[in-house]
Amino acid sequence: MSNRIINFNAGPAVLPVDVLEQAQSELLNFNDTGMSILEISHRSKPYEAVNNEAEANLKELLGLGEDYQVLFVQGGASTQFAMVPLNFLTPRRTADYILTGVWSEKALKEAKLVGQTHIAATTAKDNYRRIPELAEIQLSDNPAYIHITSNNTIFGTQWRELPNFSGNIPLIADMSSDILCRPFDASKFALIYAGAQKNLGPSGVTAVIIRRDLAENNPKTIPTMLRYETHAANHSLYNTPPTFGVYLLNLVLRWIKAQGGLASLEQRNLAKAKLIYDVIDDSHGFYRGHADKSSRSIMNITFRLPNEELEKLFVAESIAAGMAGLKGHRSVGGLRASIYNAMPVDGCRALRDFMKEFCRKHG
Ligand SMILES: *Cc1c(COP(=O)(O)O)cnc(C)c1O
Repeated sequence: MSNRIINFNAGPAVLPVDVLEQAQSELLNFNDTGMSILEISHRSKPYEAVNNEAEANLKELLGLGEDYQVLFVQGGASTQFAMVPLNFLTPRRTADYILTGVWSEKALKEAKLVGQTHIAATTAKDNYRRIPELAEIQLSDNPAYIHITSNNTIFGTQWRELPNFSGNIPLIADMSSDILCRPFDASKFALIYAGAQKNLGPSGVTAVIIRRDLAENNPKTIPTMLRYETHAANHSLYNTPPTFGVYLLNLVLRWIKAQGGLASLEQRNLAKAKLIYDVIDDSHGFYRGHADKSSRSIMNITFRLPNEELEKLFVAESIAAGMAGLKGHRSVGGLRASIYNAMPVDGCRALRDFMKEFCRKHG
């Protein structure tokens, strides 16, 4: 595919070429229906099969059983920021948030609209360069839930070890930008949500993995579409779901299984990230990583150059070299390489070579 460029976009982001080609090959005639997946009813048998397979594949990859359910909803991770407190932050309870970046701040902002909140830890004053140590986390008394963001897309930090808390406090995670990048114990989470457009598929569909007991008896006072129970009881078919998005997401899940699952993806992701971090570390300060080494993300790599002129030049030359999406988010500045599951190792090799050459010319 010589006309494809190397895509470091933060999201929507690169998808596996195999997945795009399969979608292309069956776009006009899905499973001998004589219609596109875009044109069939969400209540039809062929779509029901897609919906069921996507749920089963996601649960299989996460190693989850009958006590969990997968929901496919709309409104992005940003709607989950509100749904979580609407469903679980009941009067006289407190919700605990661990702030590790812009997205966790936004999640907290929605919870504050609903009820009482507590910041259990924050690394804001370190400009979110790091994930807090477990010893820094101060929970409130008997919180309704604890909310974390597993990977901070904008700052390029990630929980290397996902935290454990004692007691039966529901642990909730926004995993939008690192879900399925590595094996982890999903059963310690009460709820996981992820907008698909980083590591799972296209924008427009959000995956919610919820422990079944949390999708029952949600407050009757909140609007129907915002209750987890509604989507759980109807297998994500209460209203018209984002059918094409779920279909594409399922193709991505099949692709992940064909790659050997999460353990092999983790090995590949670690190797990809190392290619770039090694250039940063060996550049004698020409490249400065934003994240502390112990908190570095293997999905989003953030770094600065000696000045903004060089950063602009880096972006311009990278585009000329067939790369896209390397300009950093405005709240960090500099550069960001998003290297999600679908980014091939060769893409990271190309970026490594480009960075070395850029440093040689301008360092
Ligand atoms: C991108 C992102 C979001 C926002 O997702 P939307 O689907 O656009 O609402 C939330 N959290 C994290 C960690 C993200 O990376």
